[in-house]
Amino acid sequence: MRIVFLGPPGAGKGTQSRRLVSYLGVPHLSTGDMLRAAVAESTHLGNLARGYLDRGELVPDAVILQLVGARLEQEDCRRGWLFDGFPRTLSQAEALDRSLSAAGLSLDLVIDFDVDEKELIERLAGRRRADDQPEVIQQRLRAYRDQTRPLTEYYRRHGLLKSIAAIGSPDEVFARVKSALPGAGSR
Ligand code: AMP
Repeated sequence: MRIVFLGPPGAGKGTQSRRLVSYLGVPHLSTGDMLRAAVAESTHLGNLARGYLDRGELVPDAVILQLVGARLEQEDCRRGWLFDGFPRTLSQAEALDRSLSAAGLSLDLVIDFDVDEKELIERLAGRRRADDQPEVIQQRLRAYRDQTRPLTEYYRRHGLLKSIAAIGSPDEVFARVKSALPGAGSR
């Protein structure tokens, strides 16, 4: 199964990803986690990405596509994957489509985590990540609104989008995630 989690920062995509990958047995591909690891190890890519993460801005598409392309070539991705935080721009989504169709593959589902902005700011302010400072939070939400939210329309047109309400307990949200899976109605 090939799935994308779409939604603003603080919507709970990370928590739900960890649950869904253990349910489905596919790798969890979080570009945010990959970037933070590269920053911590001070790799060339990490040094390139550091400033963007600190400011809450999106890392340039070319850097992300290189990171994702290398990860998708690894053996464990053959049986599918769950992308969490990728794609985040239209050109990333188009690049993913191109590389999938070149391999004769396609996406199965895009789950959009729907939650209102006031709730997000409260949740993000309660976390302890370096990029969860108030100005950085505002910038990350702006990047989501301007660059990532248009992807919901893109995937809706492709017939892949399912929106779920990302409010309530993690168990309640996970029940909605599972019911969005292909074939869930007949299980
Ligand atoms: P996340 O943990 O998914 O919220 O990502 C943390 C930060 O990593 C974001 O604020 C961006 O700076 C960067 N990032 C993660 N994924 C992407 C992506 N697909 N495109 C551009 N920047 C990204």
